[in-house]
Amino acid sequence: MEIVYTDCQSCGTSMIRDERGLGGTNTDGSKSLTYCSLCFAGGAFILPDMTVVEMQDQVRANMKKVGISGFLATVFTRRIPRLLRWCVERVGGNV
Ligand SMILES: [Zn+2]
Repeated sequence: MEIVYTDCQSCGTSMIRDERGLGGTNTDGSKSLTYCSLCFAGGAFILPDMTVVEMQDQVRANMKKVGISGFLATVFTRRIPRLLRWCVERVGGNV
């Protein structure tokens, strides 16, 4: 289980640009190699009830705030449902 992702598997943001330093934290305080600090802290998702659509809306809004065009933001957020967090949820239940 030593896969290192270059993008957060929850929001799709590049881990390299993670403001608080590469990745969220696991239960034992070690760095998460899968999720960024904005999505994941202390071994749990910061917003555990968030749906994939809500995540897409939030990421799109954040990208707009930093001046990225709506078109580019839509292209970027379209891949979010394929990220690990959302694939696992789909396997786990209600499709
Ligand atoms: Zn993230």
